[in-house]
Amino acid sequence: MLDVPENKIKEITETLKQNEVIVNKKGRIIIDDELCVDCGGCISLCPTDALHFNDQYQLEFDYEKCIGCLLCLDSCPRYAIEEM
Ligand code: SF4
Ligand code: SF4
Repeated sequence: MLDVPENKIKEITETLKQNEVIVNKKGRIIIDDELCVDCGGCISLCPTDALHFNDQYQLEFDYEKCIGCLLCLDSCPRYAIEEM
């Protein structure tokens, strides 16, 4: 298990893959807040509650709860969810 800074995940993952290391990432998505309209479409697909509404019905992402299943990726009508 590796614990790496969030801003280095993509770079390190690519390097490991180039060296044929199998990478099983936790917290594999990022949400573009500029595109997200808090419609909640992604929430129902998330099996771990990593995607949820806060008290103001704004989408929140809990990185620690994300298991990287990527079920949410295709659910967003605004394409606000990206794989890291
Ligand atoms: S990748 Fe899976 S666990 Fe993570 S936020 Fe998306 S649906 Fe939830
Ligand atoms: S489906 Fe897309 S726009 Fe809707 S809450 Fe999720 S990330 Fe935001």
